[in-house]
Amino acid sequence: MNFEDAIKFHGHACPGLAIGYRVASLALKELGLRARDEELVAIVENNSCAVDGIQLICGCTFGKGNLILKDYGKQVYTFIKRPGPDAVRIAVRWEPPADDPETAAMWERYAAGDRTPEVVAAVQDRKTRKMKGVLAADDSDLFEVKRIKVEMPETAKIYPTITCARCGEKFMEPRAKMVSGQQLCIPCSQEEE
Ligand SMILES: [Zn+2]
Ligand SMILES: [Zn+2]
Repeated sequence: MNFEDAIKFHGHACPGLAIGYRVASLALKELGLRARDEELVAIVENNSCAVDGIQLICGCTFGKGNLILKDYGKQVYTFIKRPGPDAVRIAVRWEPPADDPETAAMWERYAAGDRTPEVVAAVQDRKTRKMKGVLAADDSDLFEVKRIKVEMPETAKIYPTITCARCGEKFMEPRAKMVSGQQLCIPCSQEEE
């Protein structure tokens, strides 16, 4: 798995994906794991492009239950090696180099809604430079890394399936909402309000 594979998975090349790729590679190195080992759990504190790099490189996915989103909007990623509690916490501290005045002016036009080809091209170049900067930087310039101990999150449980009294669709029991004595799925219970 390399950065090209990550681009294929994510659908485009961008600085965020590059950050995720570097985070993932560092996590595997720190915890002494191969890519796609199952005994790794990732706790991500945002749902940006970076998370796709982590899913692909680390094999941590929502479906397997070893990718956990804590939606704090922070560029922080924690990796726990099963059975725990050894973990590594990686916080992104990278600051991209300041734009030259010409690029800064193009960026301002773009931010204000200007989509003329020269502006779009300049913004695309800026993005590519940022991405290359991330890929070439030292880990110590990109990240603040801490070894920590973390309680292992509960493994995925299997819950009974019940049928919504309104829409007739099946859902897992802990998500049931009691409305007027009937068990409803979340969307139906919200229509009821
Ligand atoms: Zn992206
Ligand atoms: Zn329903």
